[in-house]
Amino acid sequence: MYIVKKKINGKEYFYLNKAVRENGKVKSKNVAYLGKIREEAEIKAKEIISKLESESLKSGENNEETMKKETKETPQTEKKQIENKYDKLIELAAKKSIFYPAAEIYPNSPSGFWDFGPVGQAIRRKVVDFWRHELVQKENMLEIHGSQILPASVFEGSGHLKSFADPIVQCTKCKKFERADKLISEKIGENVPESLAVEKLDGLISKHKVRCKCGGELGKVSKFNMMVETIVGKQGEFKTFLRPEACQSIFLNFSRMAKTMRLKLPQGIAQAGGAFRNEISPRQSITRSVEFSQMEAEVFFDASKIDEVEKFEEVKDYKLRILFLGKKEVEEISAEELVKRKLVHGKLIAYFLVKTQQTWNKMGIPLDKVRFREVDKDERAFYSLATFDFEVETSLGWLELIANNYRTDYDLKGHMEHSGTNLEYIYEDGKRVIPHIWEISAGVDRTMFAILDNCLKEGKEGLYLSLPALIAPYDCAVFPLVNKEGMPELAREVEKMLKEAWLEVFYDSGGSVGRRYARMDEIGTMFCITIDGESLKQKDVTVRNRDNQKQIRVKISELKEVLRKLINSEIEFESAGKLVETQKK
Ligand SMILES: [Zn+2]
Repeated sequence: MYIVKKKINGKEYFYLNKAVRENGKVKSKNVAYLGKIREEAEIKAKEIISKLESESLKSGENNEETMKKETKETPQTEKKQIENKYDKLIELAAKKSIFYPAAEIYPNSPSGFWDFGPVGQAIRRKVVDFWRHELVQKENMLEIHGSQILPASVFEGSGHLKSFADPIVQCTKCKKFERADKLISEKIGENVPESLAVEKLDGLISKHKVRCKCGGELGKVSKFNMMVETIVGKQGEFKTFLRPEACQSIFLNFSRMAKTMRLKLPQGIAQAGGAFRNEISPRQSITRSVEFSQMEAEVFFDASKIDEVEKFEEVKDYKLRILFLGKKEVEEISAEELVKRKLVHGKLIAYFLVKTQQTWNKMGIPLDKVRFREVDKDERAFYSLATFDFEVETSLGWLELIANNYRTDYDLKGHMEHSGTNLEYIYEDGKRVIPHIWEISAGVDRTMFAILDNCLKEGKEGLYLSLPALIAPYDCAVFPLVNKEGMPELAREVEKMLKEAWLEVFYDSGGSVGRRYARMDEIGTMFCITIDGESLKQKDVTVRNRDNQKQIRVKISELKEVLRKLINSEIEFESAGKLVETQKK
């Protein structure tokens, strides 16, 4: 096997290929995608080759033979494991324009920036809508949209200009900069807190003989501030920064909300929007990029009333999955137990941990793939008194999706001091407090990645995305069975009617209906509506379910209501219409 380099739009991509004999000719066949960096591709290729070798030794068979047999005998139902899942997801993302590198037509564009195509943007929007519906609306939070560029003084107040830095190290040979903590943790296979002192990181590098990926020796560790500076004004007279987290806008808005929105504690203020961090080594596609989006909720509360949460009764028996400090196994523990054993600071925190786990579970992430990891003091953000990172198991390992931080009164106090504006909350009786904050800071892109990764399945027609209907890029697709006999006209009518009802519809009349189903499965569309010969006479359509491929017939006059109920999981698919007998393929 050997590495090949392909140039696509001026960018280099590395693949692992092997020579195979087909009909007497030697052909180069693709085995795996290795990424865009030569050094990383070489390491990855070695890993894959040794894995394939050990597998073929174990089975005592030629590897290619084994693979052939597996694909042939795959049952109609999905396989449990998908090999090289991450690579397949990235390939699917590129093929279907879900996400892909920004400015890809220019060869020298920096990495760490991503564009989202029509399907990706639709999924992304639905993720944010889902969060808005489940967390913002149901918890009566106030949603704002703040400016992404903010004056330097804000970040003096927030402490970012002083403390928001990553430990970095430069290779003495290839001159590349890397995150020191990441290089060390990759070498020793253990988590290394980024907040560790520079001297300690230097010590670990020499102790474990950590080197650059090119083999070169590393220089001294230093701190690199991750804020992205911008120039505003003709002479650049305003020192400004792109915000490194969306929440700063929320803190800046607090006193205005208190005055104008009749805010009463506890009160959540939320925002979905962009944030920017000068990542020194952006990688793993959309999970670590310079420009990213967050869904942030900041719950302001009176610290002396942290246990006064009306709705706690509703969630007290719900089991949270938590990996406590120093523990190796996830513990399932009820919200009530968590509070009783004083494992969190109070009911308000337990309540929102429940709401967070429930929301992400409903978005398509199975419970056995999630955990809240209690984060040690060393590793916590500088402002946090307690942190529970919500992590999801993906093909990249455990991935942090949400930082849940007890920020105390740090933020409002800081902005009070630096702005000279009083940000206290004043009760009707005149009592004043600086509210404390429980933060639920979620990554949009990472959430999207984790959902796609967990929903990527392999069925008999190939890969498909088993997205929940509310996250799927389209609510449904509409097809005429054939492009004649009045079917396209009726299909267009149905499409128009559904769009009028605020449903998102994809119309497709190209190719066989089987291919059209497969294309919709691939991007996760749950329901496909076909107008066939019967439709013209009976004024009905077939609705096909992505996951079990069953079909029902539904009257056109009832279609929008039925679809709405199906999308909201209010009715069972089989009972939503007349089940169609389809011949087994
Ligand atoms: Zn190097």
